Amino acid sequence: MADFRLQVDGFCPVCEQQASFLATDPWLRDHFLCQSCNAQPRERALFSVLAQLRPDWRGLAIHESSPGTAASRRLADQAPGYRFSQYDPSIPWGSVHPTGGWRAEDLEAQTFADESFDLVVTQDVMEHVFAPDLAVAEIARTLKPGGMHICTVPIVNKEKPSVRRAARNADGSVRHLLEPVYHGNPMDPNGSLVTIDWGYDIAAYWDAASGMSTTIWTIEDLGRGIQAEYIEVLVSRKAGLPDLSGDVRPTAAPRRSLLGKLFG
Ligand SMILES: [Zn+2]
Repeated sequence: MADFRLQVDGFCPVCEQQASFLATDPWLRDHFLCQSCNAQPRERALFSVLAQLRPDWRGLAIHESSPGTAASRRLADQAPGYRFSQYDPSIPWGSVHPTGGWRAEDLEAQTFADESFDLVVTQDVMEHVFAPDLAVAEIARTLKPGGMHICTVPIVNKEKPSVRRAARNADGSVRHLLEPVYHGNPMDPNGSLVTIDWGYDIAAYWDAASGMSTTIWTIEDLGRGIQAEYIEVLVSRKAGLPDLSGDVRPTAAPRRSLLGKLFG
């Protein structure tokens, strides 16, 4: 594959301009990069969904957990209400790192107040969490009504059930149930352990654990440089439903006679 080359000109949803997407490695997920902002396909998918659902995203209160991508930089640059956290046990939870600027947060037990954010962003984080049920419940707690969690996570198992690869023991040590797999982590040179191989049942699992409602978006659009394996975008909404009350169910007249009046 030494001669692999894919180059497409199009519109980048992350840097929001005409751009060229170039890959010289066939694993497009990591290598099909915007030549202007360096974004990967999954970041362009995330921003496409974000711009469609919340075109006002620049004005939102945003929390991103464990940022590190071109999309993270775009959010930080453009949205004054953007805050970010890292899993950093070296400083007290809820405090801000003096040089790094991140707030130390355990996604499974956050110190943010209830209903703090319009938008929570996680990019390739949820496959590294040991207790995703706690993490999504905490994300739901910190979202305002009507808020949403927008997320990329590799759904490697697709139609097959999700499978746990690693678990914690009571003493905090890690128990491997399958061969350990690590992903690159800007915070840790050893990488991040993959705890769960997710399937499409991820949406039902998250909804059961969080009370939110999750939709999985799949986009294939070379014109926006969105083509690769495992670039689904998950959007989980916290209830903030329209008020449709006001209807008074008729009690005096049986339904049949009402229909008779209308159509008789
Ligand atoms: Zn770009």
